[in-house]
Amino acid sequence: MPAIGRGIKMDRLKDFQYRKVELKNSLWERQRRDTAETYLSIPNDSFLYYFRKLAGLEAPGEGLTGWYGNGASTFGQKLGAFAKLYAVTGDYRLKEKAVYLADEWGKCAEAAQKVIDCNGTYVYEKLLGGFLDMYEYLGYEKGLVWCSLLTDSAAARFKRDIPRDGLQGPELCDNDMIEWYTLPENLYRAYRLTGDQKYLDFAREWDYTYLWDKLCRRDTSIGPRHAYSQVNSLSSAAMAYEVAGEKTYLEAIENGYEEITEKHTYATGGYGPAECLFAEEEGFLGEMLKDSWDPTKRNAVYRNFGGGYVTRNDNWGSCEVSCCAWAVFKICNYLLRITGKAKYGAWAEQMLINGVAGQPPIDSQGHVMYYAGYFVDGAVKSVHDRRLQGNGANFEWQCCTGTFPQDVAEYANMLYYTDEDGIYVSQYMQSRAAFTVSGEEAVLENCSDEDIAPVRRFRIQEAGSSPFRICFRVPHWAGGENRILVNGEDSGLKPSPDTWAVLKRVWKEDDVITVIYPFRLEFKPVDDKNKDIAALCFGPAVLAADKMTLFDGDMEKPETWITCVEEKEMIFRTLPGHVCPYPQEVRTFRPYYRLPVMEWYFMYVRFRTQTGERG
Ligand SMILES: [Zn+2]
Repeated sequence: MPAIGRGIKMDRLKDFQYRKVELKNSLWERQRRDTAETYLSIPNDSFLYYFRKLAGLEAPGEGLTGWYGNGASTFGQKLGAFAKLYAVTGDYRLKEKAVYLADEWGKCAEAAQKVIDCNGTYVYEKLLGGFLDMYEYLGYEKGLVWCSLLTDSAAARFKRDIPRDGLQGPELCDNDMIEWYTLPENLYRAYRLTGDQKYLDFAREWDYTYLWDKLCRRDTSIGPRHAYSQVNSLSSAAMAYEVAGEKTYLEAIENGYEEITEKHTYATGGYGPAECLFAEEEGFLGEMLKDSWDPTKRNAVYRNFGGGYVTRNDNWGSCEVSCCAWAVFKICNYLLRITGKAKYGAWAEQMLINGVAGQPPIDSQGHVMYYAGYFVDGAVKSVHDRRLQGNGANFEWQCCTGTFPQDVAEYANMLYYTDEDGIYVSQYMQSRAAFTVSGEEAVLENCSDEDIAPVRRFRIQEAGSSPFRICFRVPHWAGGENRILVNGEDSGLKPSPDTWAVLKRVWKEDDVITVIYPFRLEFKPVDDKNKDIAALCFGPAVLAADKMTLFDGDMEKPETWITCVEEKEMIFRTLPGHVCPYPQEVRTFRPYYRLPVMEWYFMYVRFRTQTGERG
């Protein structure tokens, strides 16, 4: 079994370590099941083809296309996904596949040192994470041997004198050093699991001082950077805090969370249009929703994370959903554990509902929806990528095929937390959690009918004789008449957003707790510079319109001109007289997450401004 964790910081809350939380039938559970089956169906020979060829071994079968065909860059993430999916489901086929793939990769590494030596920062970090997951969740001891050899090789080869400002320019790409600032997370993890000083020393070499110091000082002059990996780097700062205990790391991630969620995210929680975060342009989020036909669009080009000037292109959507969600799920988990503050469940909730829940299924040819589009001129959900590399390589089996299966594995790990006094409910997915409090076994079940609804029901399935606390996270958007009932009686709690609503008593089997957070309609303008462009939200769900429209209506009071036509499906329709310039027209809004593939939708819509109609 893994060694006892090292590090001096005590977390306020504990997560479930991918154990003892069962997902019940819900869209997320079906998504997880489908994803696991799809990944199980991919032939082992295909996953291993690249490594076997590289090692000069017999390589039966066919290699995969796209990114994986060129460097098998997400192999480590796939090992990690199989390991964690096994831990959360107990499906032995997942363990068997993970162990076979790791063993066969090991044979390639033993046959040819170049299998160890060919990995740049990006691939090394993913291999390290995957083998640590194999060790931690499957007890795969050999994983540590490979971590050690991979790290010795990386420490001998990685170029130290690269620009450390995080700009992803040609120097990083040419030296295979991209996303170097995400290295510390798994290196600190390796140190905690093994106690081997070399991981600690190597981790410290890659502190992302440029970004973390600025966040710490609340200096927002960061400049355009690659989106997902900036948020992912906050997980490195979190691990640095857990191991070193220096307060500045925690300040960096708390300030980073606030800065990004308040100024750089869309209503969905998604961020990084064209994978760009912290852009210098004012109103960047809104500008990136406009195409060149739009008369209000200010600049034809903008400076991006590579340092060059590029045009907006809708092959590069509004949010790289799978990878961005992965980074958000992790940083929310660190912050919830470290601080115990309820507000850090909010971003994960947004990305669960308006991010990954809206993803079409990944297929066995390595097609995944790379980007979600929130454009004013509309978007469709599709797993097809219309980009081609100079050498003809396509974008199949890209990065998101490494993160999406990890996202679905994470579902069961982000719902509940515990401390000595009881259990905390952070996300409201249908599920069952078994835990121990005051030395006694207890089981709490979320037995709600709907995936997303204002009323959630919980049941105590098992409890001991001692009193314990059940704490419910009150969502960020829940500004209405929130109520919590116990066995039908009002608890008297008036829970306010971003806090824990706490119930403490001796619980009995079949006690039922009803949590009510009323949903209401709300338009959220995209940013301060584009207040006439907004997305309609209903509770936690972002809705999208069926046609491109200039609306004439009170943005502050959508309930006066938009009415519900189907409650369960959350379908809304405008009253006549609000679609410019056609008084007879109406528009229908549906939850973005429920929209099918290849159907046009319009998430961000436009409002007629005081100064009159647009030209
Ligand atoms: Zn990706």
